Amino acid sequence: MRKNIVAGNWKMNNDLSQTETLITNLKKQTQTSTAEVMIAPTFTNLWPAFDALRQSNIEVIAQNMHFAENGAYTGEISAAMLKSIGVETVILGHSERRAYFNETDELLAKKVDAALANNMRVIFCFGEELADRKANNHENVVASQIKNALFHLDAAAFKNIVLAYEPVWAIGTGETASPEQAQDMHAFIRETLNNKYGAETANNVSILYGGSVKPANAKEIFSKPDVDGGLIGGAALKAEDFYAIVNAF
Ligand code: PGA
Repeated sequence: MRKNIVAGNWKMNNDLSQTETLITNLKKQTQTSTAEVMIAPTFTNLWPAFDALRQSNIEVIAQNMHFAENGAYTGEISAAMLKSIGVETVILGHSERRAYFNETDELLAKKVDAALANNMRVIFCFGEELADRKANNHENVVASQIKNALFHLDAAAFKNIVLAYEPVWAIGTGETASPEQAQDMHAFIRETLNNKYGAETANNVSILYGGSVKPANAKEIFSKPDVDGGLIGGAALKAEDFYAIVNAF
């Protein structure tokens, strides 16, 4: 059966000492849920975070990576480099990467392939913008993002794929999709997978919701049958809030 996952996306926040402080505070929290817990610090803080969390059940994951194995790509980080410091999971396709760094479905397909070729797990993000939802086109947008970046894969590859539905209008805005909107979209995503790969693959893929999840709304969102966890931005920067969300399962 599919896993419940709560992943904290720290984005471009926390320098080294802030990273150490937040990790110290995370370690003081008690986990009552069975969800897998992950945090994604910046590249420069991946190693200290990994080192500090060796004996914990918090997995340290990356926010991004390049598709090439190595070479003349100034400023970039490869899957092999992440693996070499113990990082096994990478977030790909976040809407901020798509919007500010021009990441297209085509590019993301290459990144997904590179991660999987290196035996990494991918948290693949996608989601519609407000205009798409207002035009009632949100399902088409989401279906095409998934198809363009993932449908060249075979069913077995989905063992290492986690999906994260993040409506762009709900990210960092304080505006959350209602639990019903999240459930409707997650059911649609699972149906889209079912149509292509069959029920076993569709039922085993974890689908996370992201966009202004906080302690006050996590329980209701996570209670929906097709919501298997969350990708948490702002609320992941405070240990108590993050663990209130983890323990909302
Ligand atoms: P938010 O961000 O929780 O601050 O809305 C979520 C995300 O971007 O993953």
